[in-house]
Amino acid sequence: MQAESEIVVMKFGGTSVAGSDDIRRAAGRIVGARREGKRVVAVLSARGQTTDELLGMAYEVSDRPLAREMDMLLSTGERISCALCAMAIHDMGHNAISLTGSQAGIVTDSSHTKARILDVRAKRIREALTDDRIVLVAGFQGVSGDSRDVTTLGRGGSDTTAVAIAAALGAEVCEIYTDVRGVFSADPRLVAEARLLKMVSFEEMLEMAASGAKVLQLRAVEYARNNGIPIHCRSSFEEGPGTFVLSEEETMERPLVTAVTHSEQEARVTLTGVRDEPGIAGRIFGALAESNVNVDMIIQNEPISEDHKADLSFTVGREDLPTATEVLAGLDLGERILTDERIGKVSIVGAGMRSHPGVAAKVFQVLGDNRINIEMISTSPIKISCVIDAADVPGAVNALHQAFELGEDAVRREDPTGDHRPIIEPGGDGGEPGDERDAA
Ligand code: MG
Repeated sequence: MQAESEIVVMKFGGTSVAGSDDIRRAAGRIVGARREGKRVVAVLSARGQTTDELLGMAYEVSDRPLAREMDMLLSTGERISCALCAMAIHDMGHNAISLTGSQAGIVTDSSHTKARILDVRAKRIREALTDDRIVLVAGFQGVSGDSRDVTTLGRGGSDTTAVAIAAALGAEVCEIYTDVRGVFSADPRLVAEARLLKMVSFEEMLEMAASGAKVLQLRAVEYARNNGIPIHCRSSFEEGPGTFVLSEEETMERPLVTAVTHSEQEARVTLTGVRDEPGIAGRIFGALAESNVNVDMIIQNEPISEDHKADLSFTVGREDLPTATEVLAGLDLGERILTDERIGKVSIVGAGMRSHPGVAAKVFQVLGDNRINIEMISTSPIKISCVIDAADVPGAVNALHQAFELGEDAVRREDPTGDHRPIIEPGGDGGEPGDERDAA
C-alpha cells in the first residue's frame, strides 16, 4: 500500500533524541507525518553527547586510535538512537524498522572518519516503505565499497545521510529537525537581534557552513545543491516556519548581505622560506590533500626579499593541525613551520554582493572603527572573510551585524510586515545561520 504517496525524509539531531522524552517526541513527529499519509524515512544522530563520549573512550585506551576501529565505535551511537526510536514508534501503533547505514545501502569511499558517500543503494529502504513500515536509518555512517568496513562521514554527518537518502528516493524535501528554530542572520548566542531567515540559497548556505555556521553540515548542503533537494531546517521542540534552503531562483529575497558567520575552530599554519619556483605550492597542497586535510584560506605573495623566499600561510580546522604540521615537516620545502591556534574568523555572506561594489571596504572600515586588526583576508563572489584575533570575534560579529542592518529591528523599520528584505545600499540586509550542532 501507499506505493505512490509522497516520501519525506526527516532528520533528528543529537539534542532532539537526547533523553527518552526526546525520543518519544521525535517518534511522535515521525508518526504524525505517517498519519498525514506520507511514507517516512527518519535519519537519527547519536543521542546528546554520545559521539563525544565515544571519542573520549577511544582516547582513554589509545593515543592514536586506529581509524577503522574508531568508525566501528562511533557508528554505534546512531544505531542506539534508531533502535530506541523504532521501539517507541511500535508502541504508538506503527510499524518501524531500524537500519544501520550499511543496511540502508549507504556506500562510501574508504577514508575512515571522513568518508564520502559514493552511492545510495536504497532497495532495502524502498522495500520496507512498500511494506508500510517507517524506516529509521542510522546517520553519519556507511560502508566502504572496497574494504566493506564501516565508515563514518565526519562530524555532523547525519545531515549528509539524510540529504543523500532524500536524493536517492526522490523525496520532495529533506527536513532537518534540530535544537534551533532555523538559520539565523548571526549566531543568536552572540547577537541578541539575530533574525531567523525564511530562506537562504544553496550557494549562500554553502559559504555560511564553510565559514562557521553549524546549523547544517557543509557536505550536506553541497549534496543538496548538486541534487536539487530543498532542505527545510526547523526546530524539533516547537512549531515554527524554520528556514528553507533552496536554489537561488527559488529564493525570492536577494539581499546584499544575508548573514554574519564566525569560527573559532581554525588554526593558522605559516611556512617560512619557501622557494620561489614552479611546482612548490602544488607539492605542499597536494600532500595536504592526500592526507585529507581541508585547507581554507591560503595566502602567498611574490617574494620581495633578496633571497627570493616566500612565506606561505593557510588556515585549517584545528583538529587537522597536527596532521598538517606533520605533512609539512615531512616535505622539507620551507625553513620554519609556525602555528597559531588563537585565530578567529568572521565572514559576511550574501548573494547580492556579487554585483555591488563597496561591501569589502565597508567590512574593513567597520572592523577598523572597532579597533579590530585584520590578519588575513579572503573573498569569494558572495563572501568576505577576515582572520582576526579569537578574542575579537564576538565584537566583530556584532559590529558587522549592526553595520549591515541585519537584525530584527532594521527589517521592521524598512517593512512593517517583516516579510520582505529590501536591498539597502551599500549596506544590505539579511541574516545568517543560527548555530547549533545538536550536541553531537
Ligand atoms: Mg550531531
